[in-house]
Amino acid sequence: MEYFRQLCEILRTPPLVKEPLSRHTSLGIGGPADYLVNPHDTEELRDVLLFAREHHLPTLVLGHGTNLLVLDEGYRGIVISLISACSHCSFFDSRIQAGANVALPWLANEIARHGLTGMEFAAGIPGTLGGALYMNAGAFGYYTADLVEAVVTMDQEGCLRTRPRSELNFSYRWSNFQDEDVIILEATLALQPGDQQKIAEMQGQMLDKRAARHPRQPSAGSVFRNPPEKGAGYLIEKAGLKGMTVGDAQISPMHGNFIVNNGNATASDILNLINIVRKSVKEKFGIELQLEIRIVGGNWEIGEK
Ligand SMILES: Cc1cc2nc3c(=O)[nH]c(=O)nc-3n(C[C@H](O)[C@H](O)[C@H](O)COP(=O)(O)OP(=O)(O)OC[C@H]3O[C@@H](n4cnc5c(N)ncnc54)[C@H](O)[C@@H]3O)c2cc1C
Repeated sequence: MEYFRQLCEILRTPPLVKEPLSRHTSLGIGGPADYLVNPHDTEELRDVLLFAREHHLPTLVLGHGTNLLVLDEGYRGIVISLISACSHCSFFDSRIQAGANVALPWLANEIARHGLTGMEFAAGIPGTLGGALYMNAGAFGYYTADLVEAVVTMDQEGCLRTRPRSELNFSYRWSNFQDEDVIILEATLALQPGDQQKIAEMQGQMLDKRAARHPRQPSAGSVFRNPPEKGAGYLIEKAGLKGMTVGDAQISPMHGNFIVNNGNATASDILNLINIVRKSVKEKFGIELQLEIRIVGGNWEIGEK
């Protein structure tokens, strides 16, 4: 309770204690976070980070939890939501300055509404702009990285930096942020003027394709990165694993690279399926599948480049 009292002195909104992270992930899975905080501005965020350092508490930034598997044990430390600090968005001709918490589909729609082209691919990708930059989210051969001009970050000492594109590195589902201990606060994106009707048509086609391919049940999107040889979904299907269940977790019968929660799946059910898939694909095709989703919980985080 001592930490709770001290965090209340730093924050305008008191932290949530033992907050189930299942409420904050698209899979609907995840044990409790010791503290979930919602700083109102960069000063409060800096104070939280300094507090965490002083007390050796791990921190985790949470976007919309659409790429996360949180373990059943939950998170021992402070989970940070940027919902109040980073939800701003301004247009300057064909440039957009947006906070990390802005929802990607909302941003894609706003950009389209302003007659700007380049972000049609993102209309169906759930999550936040911060999460999309961290993961270099993309679809249909387009990537978040393609649009980035600059990103504002805060490090664990609370120092703010504006980083131009030339200082950033991105590749397939990877960004330099995955190797750094920084919080993404804001990005400037550059778009091109376009024809509003064509933009709407392209967005509609992409959304239709997604609706036809992706399962409706709760998931975290693609579980594995596509290896260079073949799509992960194809390999999983050819290994005969589509539809396999462990508890309430299932390899989607619709798309082999999605694991869905059919009701009461636990993180350990999902981990069991992940291990079965990896072993089976390795045995059948000699290919080691790498995780795309981030696994967090206890005091550790797994993610692979
Ligand atoms: C149905 C479905 C479909 C999907 N389709 C796609 C797709 O087509 N293409 C694709 O690329 N992805 C897809 N995804 C995965 C997911 O939507 C993306 O990875 C998304 O960008 C994650 O954003 P988020 O805000 O939910 O991040 P979270 O899941 O909350 O976090 C992901 C990681 O980013 C870190 N992070 C988040 N915000 C910040 C920040 N501000 N600063 C520092 N680190 C941060 C977190 O700590 C975590 O490690 C899909 C997911 C679902 C559920």
